[in-house]
This record gives sequence, structure tokens and C-alpha cells, in this order.
Amino acid sequence: MVLGSCSPSHVKLNFMHTTGYYTHSDCLLHDMGGGHPECPQRLLSIQDRLISSGLEQVLQWPDCALATVADLSLAHDASYIEKIFQWDAELNDEAADEYAFKQIDPDTRMNRHTLKAALRSVGAALAATDAVIDGQFENAFCAIRPPGHHATRQRGMGFCLFNNVAIAILHAIGRRGLKRVALIDFDVHHGNGSEDILSGLEEVLMVGFYQHPFYPGIHPDKEASNMVNLPIKAYTKGAAVRELVSEGWFPRLQAFEPEMIFVSAGFDAHQDDDMAQLMLNTSDYAWITREIMNLASRYAKGRIVSCLEGGYDLNSLAASVEAHLRGLTDL
Ligand SMILES: [Zn+2]
Repeated sequence: MVLGSCSPSHVKLNFMHTTGYYTHSDCLLHDMGGGHPECPQRLLSIQDRLISSGLEQVLQWPDCALATVADLSLAHDASYIEKIFQWDAELNDEAADEYAFKQIDPDTRMNRHTLKAALRSVGAALAATDAVIDGQFENAFCAIRPPGHHATRQRGMGFCLFNNVAIAILHAIGRRGLKRVALIDFDVHHGNGSEDILSGLEEVLMVGFYQHPFYPGIHPDKEASNMVNLPIKAYTKGAAVRELVSEGWFPRLQAFEPEMIFVSAGFDAHQDDDMAQLMLNTSDYAWITREIMNLASRYAKGRIVSCLEGGYDLNSLAASVEAHLRGLTDL
């Protein structure tokens, strides 16, 4: 299997959950250079793990289109979208240096392939959402980059251009008519962009945890009532995190009765990931996935769309995604 070939040829065994795996070779061409941790090798390490574990044979590999400006406009201001397209045009000008970058923030930059990768990432999240709502798959995982949960309505930041998961949620509500959608964000960083875009929407409940104090350190003066974002001190272990989310998230999710669950699946809270200092291990990602599956089967007809966010240690990222996918496929 080659990234982007999206062959539907794999045989699916009937007794397993049907999981769509969305990815694309365009996502490998976005490269911020200079040993940047959010690198194409992240997707390749996951890909290698799918092959060595045999999961590749179990997943379905659908295709995905590029997102449109109308899709981006669900979550982002026109002035921001215009700026990114203008920068893309300048990067791809015939006279431009092919290795040039446009700096979005101190941590985030565009090369001449970045916009296409970002449009493919949003497109994957949208295609996965439609496929799950239409019953083509029970759930789906999007192995995409750039990630999205730091992108606010007005700007990209923190390795993120467009907020893949927030756009997919607003698509599910606005275009597909869902009334109650949950977002579960288990990336180690606060999903400030998702909070910015989704705050105050009665159709959305967002639950998350994040290392605190830590990047990005952007919080509204007063958190909206549809937000349950839990700060956690550095060096907290998985057992304590499980306890915290069991008490803090699950009662709210049960009361909300979501019709569909979206996941901002960052794996940078792993103890081997030195981007941050939380102490989760692979079994914690297996646990949290099982809990999300239980909630989805109870309230949401099993409907889950999970989108890759962070995770920068290549070994623990691949192992944690494998655990997550074993949960989603119920292996
Ligand atoms: Zn992160």
C-alpha cells in the first residue's frame, strides 16, 4: 500500500467494525524544514506500523478530495483564507525559490506544497464525516498533516493551518443536520483553535485535557458552558489522567448524548514524547479509545471520526496510533 493510492481492494471481515483510514501522499509534501518535529516522517512511521502489525489489511482505504474555500469558510474568516491562498500563489510563482517558506507564526510555515496538504487534510476530515454519517464506515481515522486544533477562526499557529476537526464538525451540523456533536481532544496541548471556533455553540460539547502551564496558554476569560477543558500538571501519570477524565468528561458526555463523536487525536502526551511532560503510555490510548467506543455505541450509533493532531516521537506515535486503531476496529 502506498500513501495516496487509496485502494479499496482490501477484504474486510464481517465480524469486525468497519474503519475507514483516510490519508494522502499530498500530506507528505508539506515540509517546514530544519528538523521540524511536525515532519512527513510522522505519517511514514504510522504507515510502517500499519504494515508490520497487519492492520493495513483490516482498514478500508477510501479516497478523499481537496477541500474548497466554501468548506474552509465554515470555520475561518475570509481575510485569513485569502492570505493563505495569496502566500501559496507567491510560493508557486515561476520566479520563486522552490525552497522558500512563508512564516505563519514562529513555529509554523508554508512551503509551496503546504496549502495542498492542508486542503487534503480538511478534505479527508470532511470525506470521513460524510462516509460515517452515510453508514459507509462505522468510524474513521484521518492520518493527516498539517494538524488543526490550534488554528483559530482568524489565524494559523502551532503547526496548524486550518482546523480540520472544527470544519468537519460544522459541516456535520450545518450541512448534514446533526443536532449534538461531541469533540474529544486528548492532545497534550490545549485545543485553543477548536475552543475559539466552537465556543458557545449549543450543538457542540468539547471535552479535553492539556498540560498546564504550557503552550499555547491562550484561554478565554470565561470558558463557555459547552467547553470542558481540564488542566493537568506536568509529570502526571496515565492513571491520574484516566481518573480525571472519568470524572470530568464522561458525565458531561453522557448527559449530552452526542449523535456523533469527533476526536482530536494527539499522541504527544505519551511519556516518550519530549514535546511535553505528561506520562501517558500506549495502554492509556487503548483505554481512552475503548471508552470513546463505548460512548459512541451507546449514544451515537458507533459514529466516530478521529483526526491526527500531535505526536512527535516517531516510535510512540506509531505504537499509540496502532493502539487507537485496534480500538476503533475492535481488534
Ligand atoms: Zn499537541
